[in-house]
Amino acid sequence: MKTDTVTQIDITKTSKSKIENVDFNNLSFGQVFSDHMLVCDYKDGTWETPKIIPYQPITLEPSAKIFHYGQSVFEGMKAYKDSDNNILVFRPIDNCKRLNISSKRLAIPEIPEAYFMDGLKELLRLEKDWIPTSDGSALYIRPFVFASGEGFHASPADAYKFVIACAPSGSYFAGKVKVLIEETYSRSANGGVGFAKAGGNYAGQFYPTQLAKDKGYHQVIWTDDNTHEYIEEAGAMNIFARIDDTLLTVPTSDRILDGITRKSIIQIAKDENIPVEVRKISVKELIEAAENGSLKELFGAGTAAVISPIAGFGFKGQDYDLPEVENSYASLLKKRITDIQTNKTVDPYGWRVKV
Ligand SMILES: *Cc1c(COP(=O)(O)O)cnc(C)c1O
Repeated sequence: MKTDTVTQIDITKTSKSKIENVDFNNLSFGQVFSDHMLVCDYKDGTWETPKIIPYQPITLEPSAKIFHYGQSVFEGMKAYKDSDNNILVFRPIDNCKRLNISSKRLAIPEIPEAYFMDGLKELLRLEKDWIPTSDGSALYIRPFVFASGEGFHASPADAYKFVIACAPSGSYFAGKVKVLIEETYSRSANGGVGFAKAGGNYAGQFYPTQLAKDKGYHQVIWTDDNTHEYIEEAGAMNIFARIDDTLLTVPTSDRILDGITRKSIIQIAKDENIPVEVRKISVKELIEAAENGSLKELFGAGTAAVISPIAGFGFKGQDYDLPEVENSYASLLKKRITDIQTNKTVDPYGWRVKV
């Protein structure tokens, strides 16, 4: 198959598109999937030719190592269509690089950047009609790699599968959330895999998050595993706080994921002349700021929701509510970043990639 990309990609198109069955005005998040997916197998020490095939189940042996030892990593990104029908992706090379950083930590072989980028572009061209255009919607893209190789012995697999699947998704905004500052459980530890987008990190979060939900909260604010005195992330998002007019976020580490939304927000905020500080934030500081009224905003940042404002937090049985602020940083920064993503404004950073 001839393409304008450098990587050879074998394409098998679906005989019947499912697109007529999809109500693009009522999309939830990640529940319907587009017609095709990219698949690339790693065998005998090399990544084979990537293929685009109809979206379909994957069959595996019961002894496939993903089931036993959890060797799996993933990414999350979004594609948009602008008013001229251009396909746009936001900072995809960063996702590719991070996938390989995650893979390395889980002893998964790294995927060549050209396979990721060319495969992504070819897939998006084929799925162009699946990119929704209404406000807040996008084609959510899920690249992932897992151990398909077999055997019950606890060692890295000898075969892996890299897949990119797509899900047209509506606005993620679920209203302001109430969060619980975690005092017992941790999502990551020093020297662990917290910086990697590893499937197992999520598995470990579900139970403590369920306990928080049982108490009436939507999400957990993770604290450091050693002392539980410093905040680290908001669920599966990076965390930002506004104290007076300063925007604060915590430094990344081997416990904290290096979010692309996070670093984009830091850059945009600086260029908006918002004072930004990247430093540790203690629970004590947050509570004092909430009590004296200087804590104006708290929000999570990640690809799915972009920015998710927090209405209040709980700690040791006490609830702290945040005030409603006018001209919030959350809405300003969300608008700036989504305007760049969807080509409603110039992109001085070169973040937007045209497919
Ligand atoms: C994916 C993720 C984020 C956000 O990263 P983005 O690149 O902004 O989408 C933050 N924290 C965790 C734990 C994540 O898995």
